Amino acid sequence: MPLETIFIGFGSNVGDRQDFCDRAIALMNLLPLSQVTGVSSYYETEPVDPGGTLGANWFYNGVVRLETSLSPNRLLDILQETERGLGRTESNREGPRTMDFDILLFGQEVIKQPGLTVPHPRLHQRRFVLEPLVELNPAYKHPTLQKTMQELLSELHDTSRVNKVAIKPGEKYLSRPACSLPPSS
Ligand code: AMP
Repeated sequence: MPLETIFIGFGSNVGDRQDFCDRAIALMNLLPLSQVTGVSSYYETEPVDPGGTLGANWFYNGVVRLETSLSPNRLLDILQETERGLGRTESNREGPRTMDFDILLFGQEVIKQPGLTVPHPRLHQRRFVLEPLVELNPAYKHPTLQKTMQELLSELHDTSRVNKVAIKPGEKYLSRPACSLPPSS
């Protein structure tokens, strides 16, 4: 596979949400054939939940940018396995979740398969996705809508609340050589 720039959305609304997001970012850093090149802030977000299955807890959401040579299907397999590793249960997929990953954009690829649609079909309708995407790459173009992330955000109708959280994302599990000093700030 050629190297692609891709964006993965993550979200948690159960338990220690910050800890689940920190673990998710640490695991993104361990993906094979891939390198994390950007992590958005965390955003605390109101559940967008027309069916009422997600529960009342607000989410922590964010977006990771990667360079990867993984195929989209292989990546989806790994992300679903990682969701399970972080405590997501199959019996209640639609309910509150410890971790949810969505492949938002995979370079300029357009994929329509039974288990995988890319760009993510609701990306352009969700404030909790567009705000972190704009933070990372405001000028990135949506492959089918042919608008930048900034343009999609300015045209958005979603009025659900999305508040940037004033903490550094992914700090807790970032590795460093065993005998080095911890980061000073
Ligand atoms: P969710 O409840 O958001 O975890 O939904 C996961 C389901 O959506 C799985 O059955 C996936 O196969 C499917 N799916 C379709 N397109 C995508 C995508 N772009 N990213 C992640 N899951 C997807």
